[in-house]
Amino acid sequence: MDFSLNEEQRQFRDVVHNFVAREVKPHAAEVDETGEFNWPAVRKMGPLGLLGLEVPEEYGGAGMDAISAAIAIEELGWGCGSTALAISAHNGLALGPIVRYGSEEQKQRWLPPLATGEGKLACLSLTEPGAGSDLQGGVTTRAVREGDSWIIDGNKMWMTNASVSDLMVVLCRTDPAGGSRSLSMLLVPSDTPGITIGPAEKKMGLNGSPTHAVNFDEVRVPQENLLGEEGRGLQQTLATLDSGRVGIGALAVGLAQAAYEEAVRYAKERRAFGESIAHFQAIQWMLADAATEIDAARLMVYRAAWLKGRGERYTKEAAMAKLFATEVSERVCRNAIQIHGGYGYSREFPVERIYRDTRLMTIGEGTSEIQRLVIARFLLGL
Ligand SMILES: Cc1cc2nc3c(=O)[nH]c(=O)nc-3n(C[C@H](O)[C@H](O)[C@H](O)COP(=O)(O)OP(=O)(O)OC[C@H]3O[C@@H](n4cnc5c(N)ncnc54)[C@H](O)[C@@H]3O)c2cc1C
Repeated sequence: MDFSLNEEQRQFRDVVHNFVAREVKPHAAEVDETGEFNWPAVRKMGPLGLLGLEVPEEYGGAGMDAISAAIAIEELGWGCGSTALAISAHNGLALGPIVRYGSEEQKQRWLPPLATGEGKLACLSLTEPGAGSDLQGGVTTRAVREGDSWIIDGNKMWMTNASVSDLMVVLCRTDPAGGSRSLSMLLVPSDTPGITIGPAEKKMGLNGSPTHAVNFDEVRVPQENLLGEEGRGLQQTLATLDSGRVGIGALAVGLAQAAYEEAVRYAKERRAFGESIAHFQAIQWMLADAATEIDAARLMVYRAAWLKGRGERYTKEAAMAKLFATEVSERVCRNAIQIHGGYGYSREFPVERIYRDTRLMTIGEGTSEIQRLVIARFLLGL
């Protein structure tokens, strides 16, 4: 067993870290305040491979291994939760299924512009006003075949990147009879007539990550826009979420690392009772717990990514990594605010924003309850 990153992974981490420190982190507060998407930084990500992390090089991607991809998302999370979520969703949720299930023609058409940053981003559209955790039973957006086309009707919710995307991967019901083979994924160009993107949701955090409801009204796409197999949309979605959960776990580790670093810095500076608060055991314990838990979370994320890279089943490990890393991040961010005292509650200090940003991580791409359900099913052989 070898716990160290290889030379290539270390170099990539350093390159991404320096890029994020220069182009992303300094703008995180402004992005949060204004809700402006950080296009200037995202535009520069194409040449670095950040927009096509696991896309094979022949389609314009970086062809990275799964651990390097997780490291990139972790570094982005360390810099800015909003920007990291946009890039994680683009890579893991939208490009991932195209790489895995796309026909040669679909890959040739869509991946190069999306992976190099020539085009805009992509997004995955699963959730609906009445369906989140229970997609099989709840999805009502339907796609009906008419001649050589699919006609899509329905309402989707909470689409990350909807307004900054060229392409939507949309989960639709293609068999009204229901059941586990009644859903399919369709590739829908964002400018197709009949698509209405709602205003940006007003959220608690991640304000620079655009989230929208989207209405599909008789949206017509060619039959060849079916992604993967008809009726296998649920299974393709679950596999996509396994991968996405490694990304969210990594993002949560990055957010926790950023909050922890702020807390260490502040603890050394702030004085009370004649010495820096870093001398108080209560503060030291919070920092020691944070460092320990971040370390464990990072290792779990890397393990899940490693299994994924080896082509092994990693559903349970991805759920464990996502569950643990996101809950650790909440604890670490909460305590980082505690260490800052009153200043931690102020928008002047980054820990307040990081705490709001990390709150989503235990909800998106499967809540903590759903992760426990996935893990328990494996434990109990259900
Ligand atoms: C900022 C943001 C970005 C998002 N981005 C995207 C995106 O890009 N694409 C997309 O498709 N979706 C996206 N989502 C949606 C997100 O994935 C869902 O919100 C999430 O999966 C939970 O679904 P829900 O909100 O419908 O909650 P529900 O499924 O209604 O759950 C409500 C509560 O019930 C619990 N619960 C449900 N079922 C069970 C069960 N069987 N056992 C125990 N507890 C259960 C849940 O854990 C939760 O606590 C985003 C959401 C947000 C807030």
